[in-house]
Amino acid sequence: MTQNVVSMSGGKDSTATLLVAQAREVPNLSGVFADTGHEHPETYEYVRYLERATGVPIRWIRADFSQQIARKRLFIDTVWREQGVPDIIVDAALAVMVPTGNPFLDLCLWKGRFPSTKARFCTEELKTTPIIEQVMLPLMDQGEMILSWQGVRLDESHARRIRLQGTGACVKAVDEVGGGLFNYRPILRWTVQDVFEAHRYMGIKPNPLYLQGMTRVGCMPCVNCSKDELAQIAARFPEEIARVREWERLVALASKRGSATFFPTANDPMASPTDAISVETHGIDRMVEWARTSRGGRQYDLIARIPADDRCSSAYGLCE
Ligand code: SF4
Repeated sequence: MTQNVVSMSGGKDSTATLLVAQAREVPNLSGVFADTGHEHPETYEYVRYLERATGVPIRWIRADFSQQIARKRLFIDTVWREQGVPDIIVDAALAVMVPTGNPFLDLCLWKGRFPSTKARFCTEELKTTPIIEQVMLPLMDQGEMILSWQGVRLDESHARRIRLQGTGACVKAVDEVGGGLFNYRPILRWTVQDVFEAHRYMGIKPNPLYLQGMTRVGCMPCVNCSKDELAQIAARFPEEIARVREWERLVALASKRGSATFFPTANDPMASPTDAISVETHGIDRMVEWARTSRGGRQYDLIARIPADDRCSSAYGLCE
């Protein structure tokens, strides 16, 4: 029997992919949503809405790093001490090195750092691997053939297009992974207009975050988020920035260097190579300050780019 499983993020492309599968009336259709623990509440609500509105069951899964954290505790307590790391740092790391149940935070505690554009281990650890281990492999063990529907589009971003076209296999709409598992990308060549037209045609509203200045839906913020998007997030959802601020404090304690900023200081145009880096001086608040500035990062925008209230703002022209 063939199982049709759509990987859902709560974003426009995975939603359009689900809608294509539904319109084609494929058998055994379901969705899987890998909850990173770092999504906006409206995205969680939207995934629930999608299940209700389409009638397609969406399974929620989460990565679990409790074993990795247990091994890291042992490593800190033995190897760090043998290496002469001061007791005050070892004890502080051990105090925070306990599973919180939040996948994104637990991943960063385990690694002692946040992911970045150059070290984007988050996608694999929080989404790809849990989906394979918790959903695909059990189905394959039962002898099922699986079509894994993925909302990948070539024109999503220039960087992604380069990446995809650089890997011959990924640019295809279908490829065989093995063991009865196939990846299927039905909207690979769609434009963003096609994506929102599919929403409209099927009577499904887009994730409301697209009406609140967000160009992409995913982690809040994503390590790849743009300057404008960070400014929008800070203006509209300060509680998300506060959460990242607290996570920086915890992950810094779990780090041997005693510092771990959400955005790498290499991306901070105001940082100097001679700066002593700390969460207090180079953390999320400083990046938010920079995001509020005009091009070049030295002057504050005199023309307010960011609405101070919840006015509609859509990069895709979705506001009425
Ligand atoms: S949305 Fe961004 S931060 Fe979240 S897993 Fe994907 S790349 Fe990482």
